[in-house]
Amino acid sequence: PYVLEGRDLSVRFGDHTALEGLSFQVPTGAFLAIVGPNGAGKSTLIRTLLGLVKPTHGSVRVLGDLPGQHPERIGYVPQIKTFDRSFPALAVELVLTGVRRSWPGPLRRAERELAYAALNRVGALDLAERPVGRLSGGELQRVYLARAMARRPSLILLDEPATGIDALGEKDMYGMLEAYRAESGATIGMITHDWDVARYHASQVMVINRRLFGCGHPEHVLCEDC
Ligand code: ADP
Ligand code: ADP
Repeated sequence: PYVLEGRDLSVRFGDHTALEGLSFQVPTGAFLAIVGPNGAGKSTLIRTLLGLVKPTHGSVRVLGDLPGQHPERIGYVPQIKTFDRSFPALAVELVLTGVRRSWPGPLRRAERELAYAALNRVGALDLAERPVGRLSGGELQRVYLARAMARRPSLILLDEPATGIDALGEKDMYGMLEAYRAESGATIGMITHDWDVARYHASQVMVINRRLFGCGHPEHVLCEDC
């Protein structure tokens, strides 16, 4: 029933404590917003859920298992998007399916179908053959979102997905996430700075600032005027 669980999770980097004693439960199908000030440990939490950072103390469960056990069931949109700089000449369709090759050849048919279905879902079929280096911020965001959704994951984690896109693009993105969640029953977990975004879109809000300050329904966790 819980897609994410933390039990007394602490993460330290040297003598710096990024997260301390977090215990939480997030039910399957939730739209979770993780909020907190800069340096609060939000990215560290997502990176711990992905298995990229190891707990110093306590534990987390993701999809009922230790982190890193089900990479194919998890889509991730990082805060810093680097496709465009790392592989500027690569066509969008080639970065979509998570195929890792040292020299990308043409896509196999099944990969191509996945890539095009994902682009269609985010309204970006026209971008398929565009080199990633020639995408705008909003287009790059769509491509990252398509990539995160391509394998129809049961969990999508997003680190400040609104960074670098305009208000309209941001609204579209929440709409696409909500539509995917509604049709698939997937869980969405997203870091945001924006309390209103948390209030309007999330079914559950987690407030952290090194420690956990609340985790529950937006109306119970967020104060009236913040
Ligand atoms: P947020 O995402 O809320 O802004 P982060 O999770 O990125 O916060 O960082 C929390 C704290 O942990 C910050 O003080 C940051 O400098 C520190 N930190 C994060 N990652 C590392 C790391 N790999 N090594 C050392 N310190 C880190
Ligand atoms: P439901 O509660 O049936 O899931 P919604 O999906 O419309 O309904 O809303 C999800 C959450 O976001 C609810 O807690 C709701 O109060 C809040 N919310 C949605 N839209 C608004 C809005 N325009 N103003 C204030 N709160 C909103």
